Amino acid sequence: MKKTIIRGGLETLYFSGLYHLMQPFLGGVGVILTMHHVRPPRTEAFQPNRLLEINPAFFERLLRRLKRARLDVISLDEMHRRLTTGDFKRRFVCLTFDDGYKDLLAWGYPLLKKYEMPFALYIPTSFPDRLGELWWVGLEAVIAQNNRIGLMINDKQQFVDCATAAEKREAYDQLYRFLRGMKTEDEVRRTVRELCVRHGVDMAAFCRDTCMTWDEIAQLAADPLCTIGAHTVNHVMLKKVPDENIVRTEMAMSRQVLEAALGKRPDHLAYPVGDPTSAGPREFRIAAELGFKTAVTTRPGVLFKAHRNHLMALPRVSVNGEFQRQRYLKVLMSGAATAMWNGFRQVNAA
Ligand SMILES: [Zn+2]
Repeated sequence: MKKTIIRGGLETLYFSGLYHLMQPFLGGVGVILTMHHVRPPRTEAFQPNRLLEINPAFFERLLRRLKRARLDVISLDEMHRRLTTGDFKRRFVCLTFDDGYKDLLAWGYPLLKKYEMPFALYIPTSFPDRLGELWWVGLEAVIAQNNRIGLMINDKQQFVDCATAAEKREAYDQLYRFLRGMKTEDEVRRTVRELCVRHGVDMAAFCRDTCMTWDEIAQLAADPLCTIGAHTVNHVMLKKVPDENIVRTEMAMSRQVLEAALGKRPDHLAYPVGDPTSAGPREFRIAAELGFKTAVTTRPGVLFKAHRNHLMALPRVSVNGEFQRQRYLKVLMSGAATAMWNGFRQVNAA
């Protein structure tokens, strides 16, 4: 339902030409794009995490279009320079990838090389350390492999039917919402861990099978096109961690581990999950205290001059796998759609 409404809005803005008229007013000075997986599409009917993946052909069309467009594709350091010195002669785009999946190396990186595009990669260090818990993938696997699942909710045994693809989608949405609504990250982890153990799903396998090794990350890091950024150690929703010291440690330690592994200290940070329930003013303050040059959220939006005063709370535009059309991206990058979602507020850092 929500997807239909979003798609309808994007189509209207595109075909009415409104997005084009609005861009000079709402387009700001640049945009940071968020991506995760780049890999060939899969055929399963149940793919609740499909929004996190785009196919290589779509990605190549995007890069080709960016290459031809009157804008600069730049690194995070250059974005920082432009924002802080007020150099806004040309509109810019930053390409960012979260989490460090192997498919980026296999499918995305060759295209980034081909079109000579700078890009950034935000790494949660527990992923190459093979200790990461991709709990959203664990939840997907449990539901995919079972017709009915059981879990404890508020100390009560509950069962959810998930035999058909439609039931699986509904079960996923319901449980994902339930997990994201939990007060602490610990509770989320405990619940999914228990669910995986109970249904014989090996959560550690996802990390091994889908995330880059340190050698693979080092291979990308050696390319001047690539900027490695921090993404905490354990990929935690920081705002759901009550102890401020742990939040600080998650950010600082991930930077230390990346520096030790790759020989260069990361200057940029991405908050895991990154929406307002995962990163807020406390996290922005700590990131600033730790001396990061920039930190990105997943709050939707383009960048305005005013963001020079909010470098620890930069918005991004997600290249969403559910909406793989160049015209949707044109609308999103024009700032028209995000301006409407944000009630025409330029900065959202509260
Ligand atoms: Zn992430």
